[in-house]
Amino acid sequence: MSYPEVNKGAGSQALLRQGWATFFGAPTCLDLEKLKADIAFLGVPLDSTTNDRPGSRFGPAGVRDVSMRYQHHDWGGWLDQETGEQILQGVTMADCGDVDIRVVDLDTNFNKISRAVEMVLGNGALPVLVGGDHAITYPSTRAFHRPLDIVYFDAHLDFTDEFKGVKFSHDNPLRRVSELSFVQGITIIGIRGALSFANPYWEAKEKGAVIIPSLDIRRHGVDAALSRIPGLGDTYVSVDIDVLDPAVAPGTGYPEPGGIAYYELKDALVNIARRSNVVGFDLVEVAPWFDPTQRTARTAARLILDFLGEVFAIRPDASGRMARKTEVVSVKGGAQ
Ligand code: MN
Ligand code: MN
Repeated sequence: MSYPEVNKGAGSQALLRQGWATFFGAPTCLDLEKLKADIAFLGVPLDSTTNDRPGSRFGPAGVRDVSMRYQHHDWGGWLDQETGEQILQGVTMADCGDVDIRVVDLDTNFNKISRAVEMVLGNGALPVLVGGDHAITYPSTRAFHRPLDIVYFDAHLDFTDEFKGVKFSHDNPLRRVSELSFVQGITIIGIRGALSFANPYWEAKEKGAVIIPSLDIRRHGVDAALSRIPGLGDTYVSVDIDVLDPAVAPGTGYPEPGGIAYYELKDALVNIARRSNVVGFDLVEVAPWFDPTQRTARTAARLILDFLGEVFAIRPDASGRMARKTEVVSVKGGAQ
């Protein structure tokens, strides 16, 4: 008598994934004191400051889940079939779990986020935060305590000083970031939409922010539109997934008509990685309940890979020698 073959886990086809998801299948590191990896993923399931449709608290779990589509096992990296490049070969990653967010207490949550980023930086890893709503960018960037340029992809400015007494919602983070003494240049890419309350637009311009609307990219192409960006040093890159056209990324709380497509955002991220030294990165506002086909989360996961691939790319240095631009702290060994 023969039995149908049963799923044997690793090595079987496993149509339904077994075990738990981690970002890109990376080993977990739930004790940040013991972090030893080049890239540290932190989920930040905070969406209590969303002023339209909440739900991005499920973003870390949603992106984590679909990122298993790109799971790999031996740190051999991935072949980008369109560029012919092998990306992230030998670069180690750790999934540091989610910051322990509590209901209501924003101060405590912000302090936990800042502390987690400080610990990642203290261990020499690149912090990659997956939100959560955009409010998390302020506690993340304030943890750097050193000169920082900001590149902010968003349909929205997020530059409101305060509205009806609220200063720390997902409408304010870039304004709060701009007030940090060590923040230098600010570039905002992908802006669009009609404002009835226009002060943030003029105030961002007054403070010297470079604003590149979505339409500039659509009309002139990525490289021409981004040529207005001044020199970038150590740079923190923040991506609000609503910078994408809602036709591409509907799973977000505050979609705006218009916007750019996957290839344009990929090219823009590569452009920024090439011209700066990326020291921090977040991707926010993925809201899986508005994403029944998972296309938003899948696009987000792919863009994270694309961007990190370029941040850790091996390119000729000033002397023409091939080198990794971003230092790899632990080529072997992975996370604890
Ligand atoms: Mn935003
Ligand atoms: Mn936005």
